Amino acid sequence: MSSLEIENHRLRRQLQVLMDEARVNENKWRRLDLLEKQLIATPTLPDLIRVILGDYKAASETDVVTLVLADPDHEIRRILEHEKFGSSELPGLVLLDALHSDELTPYIGVIDTEHHRAIFDPWPADCRSMILLPLKRQDKVIGSLNLASCRADRFTPDSSTDFVERMANILAICIENSLNHERLKQVGLTDPLTGVFNRRYFESRCQEEISHTRRHKAPLSCMFLDIDKFKRINDTYGHAAGDVVLRTVSQLIKSGLRGNDVMARFGGEEFVVLLPQTGLQTACEIAERIRISVAAYSHPVSAKENLAVTISIGVAQAPDELDEDDMAVAHKMLAAADTAVYQAKKSGRNKVVSEADRPLAANVMNGLNKLLNLG
Ligand code: GH3
Ligand code: MG
Ligand code: MG
Repeated sequence: MSSLEIENHRLRRQLQVLMDEARVNENKWRRLDLLEKQLIATPTLPDLIRVILGDYKAASETDVVTLVLADPDHEIRRILEHEKFGSSELPGLVLLDALHSDELTPYIGVIDTEHHRAIFDPWPADCRSMILLPLKRQDKVIGSLNLASCRADRFTPDSSTDFVERMANILAICIENSLNHERLKQVGLTDPLTGVFNRRYFESRCQEEISHTRRHKAPLSCMFLDIDKFKRINDTYGHAAGDVVLRTVSQLIKSGLRGNDVMARFGGEEFVVLLPQTGLQTACEIAERIRISVAAYSHPVSAKENLAVTISIGVAQAPDELDEDDMAVAHKMLAAADTAVYQAKKSGRNKVVSEADRPLAANVMNGLNKLLNLG
């Protein structure tokens, strides 16, 4: 074989190795992407924990996965008991009364017998390497996601950690959301008719999310949803039938959202939704899917009659004005979504209008006026 052929052969082999590696990464990404979707669609805490300790463990191809959660007031234990879960049914879940900050700092490398005893239960004696990712919300550590492998080279300081870090971030939001939901069931911040959060809760959560968004420079969007011609339903079929429609519409909206979205009844026949880590475009796509699913539903409003009900939706994204306080930013975002709903009503109802549609329309009008020498 000539030296050129040898070189050619070597390069082909190298290319094959790289292609195989890319294929493995792509498969991994697909599996984790599916899992992320599953996670954010999972509403209750026990189910979230099961997804992490079961499905995530399988998808991440590690030997041991544990989830540590701080539970100083035994709140999580009570929730699990209430849902009829004993701790033995969730192997890998470690609830700690107190978190010691030095135990839950990020770590990757050789498994550390002395430092990390508390986060694995039972101790994974066969494991050689591990990664610990703290779960953080509002800069507070609420627990950690921990993976261990029998292979010493599985987690080393130069391994890529993008996938697992992303999972930890999403998991932290989902855990906080499901915990908040449980808390609110108890303190009465939910609306009794529809079971979704009420306006008081929404307003405080809105400020929290804005502050989080601004610190982490992530997008945040919101939707205002208003049932079309709802008064007519009450007037024609009675208040009780109106109540049933309200409840059904709120469930249809909710089922179109993800686990980390926050939905509330704003008042009367109006709902509002916060979409963390979501830009305007995606929020509009979600809104459009919700609009379609509501319009497609047939409400049995009387013994003989089924009725189609539509909603109008206004969508806006939180402005990132640094000099304003969180409250002012929240008001601006809600006002923009409210104006967009008004626009949807004016232009025929059963529509999604985004705040971006309006300046665009104004620009187009200016352009047209200039062309026609009117402006
Ligand atoms: P638009 O398309 O412009 O939004 O018209 P609309 O009829 O939906 O709006 P309007 O604000 O005129 O009427 C809202 C009605 O919602 C009036 C009120 O009686 C009714 N409503 C508010 N809360 C409840 C409730 O809890 N149950 C029932 N059944 N009706 C309610
Ligand atoms: Mg209204
Ligand atoms: Mg209305």
